[in-house]
Amino acid sequence: MLRQSLLLLARSGRVKELVTRTPVSGALVARYVPGEATKDAVEATRDLVADGRLVTLDFLGEDTLDEGQAEATVAAYLEVLEALSQEGLARSAEVSVKLSAIGQALPEIGAKLSLENARRICRAARNVGTTVTLDMEDHTTTDQTLATLRELRKDFPETGAVLQAYLHRTEDDCRALAYEGSRVRLCKGAYKEPATVAFQDRHEVDKSYVRCLKVLMAGQGYPMVATHDPRMIRIAGAFATRFDRAPGTYEYQMLFGIRPDEQRRLAAVGERMRVYVPYGQEWYGYLMRRLAERPSNLTFFLRSLLSQ
Ligand code: FAD
Repeated sequence: MLRQSLLLLARSGRVKELVTRTPVSGALVARYVPGEATKDAVEATRDLVADGRLVTLDFLGEDTLDEGQAEATVAAYLEVLEALSQEGLARSAEVSVKLSAIGQALPEIGAKLSLENARRICRAARNVGTTVTLDMEDHTTTDQTLATLRELRKDFPETGAVLQAYLHRTEDDCRALAYEGSRVRLCKGAYKEPATVAFQDRHEVDKSYVRCLKVLMAGQGYPMVATHDPRMIRIAGAFATRFDRAPGTYEYQMLFGIRPDEQRRLAAVGERMRVYVPYGQEWYGYLMRRLAERPSNLTFFLRSLLSQ
């Protein structure tokens, strides 16, 4: 119930304005978002890489209906890719992109514009020796995002996809994407979705995650196991053994600021461990989804809000 309410608020313009205008709970934001500028993203990347972890950078933003904003987001990605290259970090850090931040939701032209914009980011990533992964958003965009992925992979086969285990369709999508060279990030899913398309019960989502993971680990692609859940991590390790996967043929991924000790532990035992690092000013939707996953953080957040 609380999770559903927080996910609804994640899309509320009025609450967004209230929360982002108040100098509220900076510590909580900072826990999940290392900063707003390119230099903050690069600095966080440098620290993580020095500590044996890999990185994927997300310039925060989503649901834009403004072509200028979409263009500014592309420019931010091009800038950070260049900065990573100059700092010698491009081999250890890639970027994650939300198509809705680069124009997908614009009426009439959205599909074409976001594909063109994604191509520009993929080209820049390729030029500095790294890759792009397309984040997955709510279920109304899944088909369009997978169609864009197919187009991009014609020229940039290294482009990664994200699939969400809470959707009923995802086991089939995993089968379709478990081919050689295909990089697929499997997560549980972070949006408020109706029962017609998504499992509502956490236990059902977990069971779906395991089925999807099995398909990906048994397949020919490169699975990216994106979860903080200790059980899912153990099961991923068991599948890696069962399907004879050599180290480096799959990786674990977690979000910046969540279970950092477990991130370090996995890296220390020789696993590829990538940290998703969001940065930028548009942290509201991202933060609300993190609160929805961990309502215990909410008390801290509300207390800070009320004390303003
Ligand atoms: P959960 O069952 O939520 O959590 C398991 C355990 O992890 C908890 O018991 C707790 O110990 C710890 N934990 C989880 N969340 C928190 C938190 N906020 N604070 C502190 N501890 C916590 N979702 C999408 O819909 N689209 C995407 O493109 C996408 N990309 C992602 C990329 C990466 C690298 C990761 C790690 C996640 C991504 N997600 C995405 C989010 C994902 O769908 C889940 O919402 C999120 O990862 C929480 O699910 P979980 O697997 O960690 O399991």
